[in-house]
Amino acid sequence: MKIHLVTLFPGMFQGVFTESILGRAQDAGILEIRIVDLREYGLGSHRVVDDAPYGGGGGMILKPEPIAMALEGIEDPGHVILTSPRGRPFRQADARRLSGLEAITLICGHYEGVDERVSELFVNEELSIGDYVLTGGELPAMVIADAVARLIPGALGHDTTQSGDSHYDGLLEYPHYTRPREFRGREVPPVLLSGNHEQIRDWRARQALRKTREARPDLLEKSPGGDNDGKGD
Ligand code: SAM
Repeated sequence: MKIHLVTLFPGMFQGVFTESILGRAQDAGILEIRIVDLREYGLGSHRVVDDAPYGGGGGMILKPEPIAMALEGIEDPGHVILTSPRGRPFRQADARRLSGLEAITLICGHYEGVDERVSELFVNEELSIGDYVLTGGELPAMVIADAVARLIPGALGHDTTQSGDSHYDGLLEYPHYTRPREFRGREVPPVLLSGNHEQIRDWRARQALRKTREARPDLLEKSPGGDNDGKGD
């Protein structure tokens, strides 16, 4: 899979995609991440990429021409996504859907945002990573790219389609424990040491429900134990 990132701040991505699982996925050739420097497509000798908003108001708006040229310079942009607080909330189901595509392109907005005609002409969907406003689309693009890339078959050492991960089946994940058996007076729940796989499965299912009820009761209202992950999409 290819993930293209169109950004004014390529330096922000240094390290994020070269370390750990995403670094290994690229080394293994199952993931290619390409950073496109929007400034290279800026207009004139000053490489201008932004301008004041028509109709007045504070802040600057990213101009459409540099973004258009940056997108047209990508051979296979695939599905084009604009990061935006006005977008549809990005969910695990979106990560799974996008991980099945050959290529995606994430546009990182900045300042007050992006000229609306970019959305009208080039963007397949706008995604928000939460109900808050960040200074730029770089962190949202990293979040989306990371959530998508870890679901590419082979990216993780295990099969994510059988995952008990939070949000996989509409619930939060059950608690994990590792050695030592006792830590500062806290024992690992005995069932996890029992070797009885059926009992372990039951315990984990009950714990997942409990955790979800405590932290995210809204998930149970929306989809009681249901599919929140696009399974069977
Ligand atoms: N004026 C815009 C608004 O109120 O919707 C906010 C612009 S924000 C300061 C600059 C850029 O950061 C946006 O164009 C977008 O790319 C990115 N951004 C900020 N918050 C975001 C969020 N919650 N999800 C996705 N992208 C976000």
